[in-house]
Amino acid sequence: MADEKTYTFRCTVCGYEVEVETPELPEDFECPVCGVGADMFELVEE
Ligand SMILES: [Zn+2]
Repeated sequence: MADEKTYTFRCTVCGYEVEVETPELPEDFECPVCGVGADMFELVEE
């Protein structure tokens, strides 16, 4: 569990955050709050 790397992405439009196990969001990912695509998300450095 301890070495399970996750990546947090934040919607630059509404601030919604999502945690995934890959360094990129799927191309068809959409923000569930405001509906923008993955290209509007930025990786959050932890
Ligand atoms: Zn959003």
